[in-house]
Amino acid sequence: MAGFPSELKSQQQICPKCGGSLVIRRSVHGEFWGCVNFNKGCTYTQGINPKKPVDPN
Ligand SMILES: [Zn+2]
Repeated sequence: MAGFPSELKSQQQICPKCGGSLVIRRSVHGEFWGCVNFNKGCTYTQGINPKKPVDPN
């Protein structure tokens, strides 16, 4: 177990509502992108795309 896959950690997501960063959060429904400004009132969330990028190797 090494935590999050590196491709998810290096993938920067930006909140379209406030421009803040999105971070991976976990709920009973699984993982999702949540805004870092959640505690400031921004409730934007977005599902994590289950499709992995194609690795040329
Ligand atoms: Zn936001």
